[in-house]
Amino acid sequence: MKRRIRGVIMGRLPGMITCRALDEFIVDYLEGALAENDRVLFERHIRFCPDCRRYLARYRVALEAGERILSEMDEPVPQELVEAVLAAVTSREP
Ligand SMILES: [Zn+2]
Repeated sequence: MKRRIRGVIMGRLPGMITCRALDEFIVDYLEGALAENDRVLFERHIRFCPDCRRYLARYRVALEAGERILSEMDEPVPQELVEAVLAAVTSREP
């Protein structure tokens, strides 16, 4: 609840996106696919929001672990498994 209120307040500051908006950008950000303007907004939010900073760090670790596992496997990994692991690791709940 606290997090949501803070996200709404942040979204009202000039040049600040909400936590939810950040969520939608996170994969593009990690892949370097964000436009310059969006990347600036993203990084500004990360600087001011400890929740999203933690979330981004965990997301990055999960993605890197996933890529390492994939590169070591011969068999294709089922998409459900990838999604389940990502969802578990990147859950915002502690
Ligand atoms: Zn946030």
